[in-house]
Amino acid sequence: MIRFNKPYFTGKELNYIDDAIKQGRLSGNGEYTKRCQDFFEKQYGFKKTLLTTSCTDALEMAALLLNIEQGDEVIMPSYTFVSTANAFALRGAKIVFADSKANHPNIDEDKLEALITSKTKAIVIAHYAGVACNMDAIVSIVKNHNIKLVEDAAQAIDSFYKGQPLGSFGDLATFSFHETKNISSGEGGLLVVNDNNLINRAEIIWEKGTNRAAFFRGEIDKYGWVDIGSSFLPSELIAAFLYAQLENLTDIQTQRKHIWNLYFEGLSNLEKAGKIKLPLISKDSTNNAHMFYILCSSLEERSKLIEHLKTNGVSAVFHYLSLYKSPYFANSYKGKELINSDYYSNTLLRLPLFFELTDKEIALITKLITSFYA
Ligand SMILES: *Cc1c(COP(=O)(O)O)cnc(C)c1O
Repeated sequence: MIRFNKPYFTGKELNYIDDAIKQGRLSGNGEYTKRCQDFFEKQYGFKKTLLTTSCTDALEMAALLLNIEQGDEVIMPSYTFVSTANAFALRGAKIVFADSKANHPNIDEDKLEALITSKTKAIVIAHYAGVACNMDAIVSIVKNHNIKLVEDAAQAIDSFYKGQPLGSFGDLATFSFHETKNISSGEGGLLVVNDNNLINRAEIIWEKGTNRAAFFRGEIDKYGWVDIGSSFLPSELIAAFLYAQLENLTDIQTQRKHIWNLYFEGLSNLEKAGKIKLPLISKDSTNNAHMFYILCSSLEERSKLIEHLKTNGVSAVFHYLSLYKSPYFANSYKGKELINSDYYSNTLLRLPLFFELTDKEIALITKLITSFYA
């Protein structure tokens, strides 16, 4: 069976974990946490980064930092992961779902203005498959309306819009190191704080509402409870694992792009024949090869293709179900049908993509898809 995903190990993870153990300090915000945060700040120029135990946690920190409360409205895509919405629902916000673009699962920037009201406090975008949303348009909208911007960049590590790294556009941005992402620590995440005014409070929320981080830097002589927060920081064991992956970022990205391109070439004839659609990379965005997906022409066709691949030993999977139609939210949804979100829910199929996937396996998968449409 060719699995959909397989976690990749660089080989150095256990060395760094061993070293962390020898240093005799395993709780969060230690040496390896600092090394990982430094990596992101140097590599991408992010002002301040904080490792978290997941991207979900980083999104919850973002909602706390923006003082989201009952009555606030937060606009976001319907075609995204549950955590994007749940983090803001936890604060009592009203979630306002926007549709995807017709040619890409990303949020449709042209639909945003119509959804903004005097209660809109933030727009949360997700860069689907690591491909950038239209940042020129979105940044200009949030500036004009004085609204905060959060980038759910869970899938967007090492991807750029017009040369600028994703995760550097929002007041806040979040990344994921879940085992299905390009760089992984099993579970893990990162909060990026681009707004200088939010940095101090981000550290406090990160460490249970205390000013412990400032205490350990020697800035204050005792620490205590100064705000609300939670325990959002991972242990040094996780940070040590993650550091080994970050050191290999270039190799990992090179191999993933190689796989992505083989799929694209192998399936381009099917697209030319009008059988399927292949992923669009907009001219302003890079491709970080987070995901390879195809678009089938209907739900029925996709189900049959999944079955065909499964019978032949290949695990391919669909992705999000429109959040506005989810069991938790459907009853409170008052807006229109979001046809593009539903379209991707029904037709998008993700193919196996992981470091160790071989050229031979990719050839087999493309052949199986081609034979299905023959
Ligand atoms: C993976 C993902 C998340 C959740 O990340 P975790 O680290 O598992 O919490 C959130 N949003 C998007 C868009 C994702 O792809």
